[in-house]
Amino acid sequence: MQQHYDVIIIGTGAGGGTLAHSLAETGKRILMIERGNWVPREKENWDTREVFINERYHATEMWYGGNGKPFRPHTSYNVGGNTKFYGSILFRFREGDFSEVQHHDGVSPAWPIRYEDLAPYYTRAEQLYAVHGTRGEDPTEPPSNDPFPWPAMSHEPRMQEVDDGLRRQGIKTFHLPVGILLDEQNPETSSCIRCNTFDGFACPLNAKADAATMCVIPALRHPNVSLLTEGFVTRLRTDPTGRSVTAVDVEHPSGPMQLSADIIVVSAGAVNSAALLLRSADEKHPNGLANSSDQVGRNYMCHNNSAIITVFRKPNPTRFARTIGINDFYWGTEDFPYPMGHLSSGLKSQPEMLATAAPSTKLPGVGLTLDYMAAHGVDWWATTEDLPMPDNRVSLTPSGDIMLSYTPNNREAHTRLLGKLKQLAERLDDGMSHFIPHDVYLAQRIPLAGVAHQGGTCRFGDDPNSSVLDVNCKAHDVDNLYVVDASFFPSSSSVNPALTIMANALRVGDHLKQRLAASKPSMTDAMLAVAS
Ligand SMILES: Cc1cc2nc3c(=O)[nH]c(=O)nc-3n(C[C@H](O)[C@H](O)[C@H](O)COP(=O)(O)OP(=O)(O)OC[C@H]3O[C@@H](n4cnc5c(N)ncnc54)[C@H](O)[C@@H]3O)c2cc1C
Ligand code: SF4
Repeated sequence: MQQHYDVIIIGTGAGGGTLAHSLAETGKRILMIERGNWVPREKENWDTREVFINERYHATEMWYGGNGKPFRPHTSYNVGGNTKFYGSILFRFREGDFSEVQHHDGVSPAWPIRYEDLAPYYTRAEQLYAVHGTRGEDPTEPPSNDPFPWPAMSHEPRMQEVDDGLRRQGIKTFHLPVGILLDEQNPETSSCIRCNTFDGFACPLNAKADAATMCVIPALRHPNVSLLTEGFVTRLRTDPTGRSVTAVDVEHPSGPMQLSADIIVVSAGAVNSAALLLRSADEKHPNGLANSSDQVGRNYMCHNNSAIITVFRKPNPTRFARTIGINDFYWGTEDFPYPMGHLSSGLKSQPEMLATAAPSTKLPGVGLTLDYMAAHGVDWWATTEDLPMPDNRVSLTPSGDIMLSYTPNNREAHTRLLGKLKQLAERLDDGMSHFIPHDVYLAQRIPLAGVAHQGGTCRFGDDPNSSVLDVNCKAHDVDNLYVVDASFFPSSSSVNPALTIMANALRVGDHLKQRLAASKPSMTDAMLAVAS
C-alpha cells in the first residue's frame, strides 16, 4: 500500500463518506481510513434480539462518564459509520437555527454561515441520499425552490388514522423526510420492501440511504479512491512548525502504519474526532492538536431525546411507522415562548425492544404485557435542543480512554414538549369506542450512552479564540487539517443532524476541490499527463 496521498479522510460516516464521494471525481489520490469493517449482510441485521439485547453491532470499547463510571456507548464502528443504523430521517436545519436563539435555559449561538449558504448543498445532499418528502407541508421548513427528489412515504392505515386525528386537533402534521431506496409506485423493483426493522437496524438489502451505500461504495469505483478498513487512527503528527500534519499513525491488524497526505480530514464522529486531536498533543500543541482555543472536546451536545409509547386499545399493525412529523411547537407557544422542539412518530416497538427498558414481561404499575403494548402501541420520538456548555465535554482519562462529561440542560422545554404530546395523544381516537380510560405513557430519556446525536466538540467560527475550525472547517491552528463530522456544529437545533453533516461535507468538498486544483499536480496527475 502506498504511503502518501493527496487526501486522507479518517472515518466513513455521514461526514467522511459524503466528502469522499464528492472528491472522488477529482482524480486525486484519496484514502479513507475506517477503524471498523463492512457491516456483514446477514440475517442478524434484522434480528431484534441480536440488535437490541445482544448489541451485536455496537462498539465494544468502554468510555467513562464525568464521574469516572465506565459505560458502553451506543455507537457503531463500521464502514458508513452510524448511518448504517440510523433512522435516515433527513431534515434541513430551520432558517432560524443558524441565528442566535433565546431558549428557556440560555442562548443557542449563531453560526458563522447562514441557511442560504448551505441551502444548495442541502438540495444536493437530498438528491444524493434519495430523500422522500413533500415540500411545503412542514410549517417550520426553511425556504427551497427544489422539490424533494422522491415523493413522500405514504402512511400505513393506522398511522393515517393517527395523522387524521392530529390534524383534527389543528396540528400541521407533515410527512417525515426519509432517505430510502423505496419506490412505492413500482414495488416489484423497489430495493426497499418497507419492513419494521429500519431505525437502529442495518439493511441487508442495501435499501437504506446510508453513507456506505450511497457514497463509499460509489466512490470506490473510482481508481483513485481507496479504503483501509480496520485502521484505527491513533495520532496525528505535525512538522516542527506545528502548522502542518505530516503523518497519520494507524493501528492495523497487519501491524502499525504511518501514512501521510497533503490534506488530512478528520471525520471520526464528534466524540472520537475530539479524542484523536487531544491524543495528538505535541510540543507545539501541548493541549491537543488545533486546541490553542481550549475548545477541542468542549460544547458536546447530544439533544434531549425521548422515546415514548402511547398505548391505545386499537391495535397498531404498522410495519414502517416513521412517517409523521410535528413541528408546531418547535419555536414555542403562547404559554411557553421558548423553543420546545420536534416530535415524530417513532420506530414501531417490538416486545424484545421493550424488554430492554422493562425488567419483566409486564410493565410495573401499568399491568400491560409487553406483547400487548407492542401490538397496540403508537411510538413517538421527541427531540429538544440542548445548549452548548463548555463543561459538557470530551476529555481523556490518564490512560488515554474517552471521558464524556455531560449535564443535561433545557429540560423544562423538553418536559413541556412531552406534555404537548401527551395532550395530543389523549385526544386521539376521540369518539371511538374505548374501554381503557387512559392511554399509557412510557417516557424514558436516553441516558449518557445514547450518543447517537453527538456534535459540537470542534465548533467552527470566525474567532480562533472561541472556535476550533474556520468557516471552511479547516483548523485555525493547522494549515492542512479539516474536520467534517458533527463536531463543527456551534448549536444542535431540534431536528436530526445527519443531513446538515452531509450538506456541510459537500460544501467543504467544493472548497477542497478549489484548493486541490490550485495546488501542485499530484503524482497521478503528472503520470496521466505523461501518458497522454
Ligand atoms: C440508531 C441511530 C439512529 C439515528 N437516526 C438518525 C436519523 O434518523 N436522522 C439523523 O439525521 N441522524 C440520525 N442518527 C445520527 C446520525 O447517524 C449521525 O448524526 C451521523 O452518522 C454522524 O455522522 P459523523 O460523520 O459525524 O459520524 P459517524 O457517522 O459516526 O462516522 C464516524 C466514523 O469514524 C470512524 N472512526 C471513529 N474513530 C476512528 C479512528 N480513530 N480511526 C478511524 N476511524 C474512526 C467510525 O468507525 C465511523 O465509521 C442516528 C444515529 C443512530 C445511532
Ligand atoms: S424498511 Fe426498507 S430500507 Fe429499511 S430495513 Fe426494511 S427493506 Fe431495508
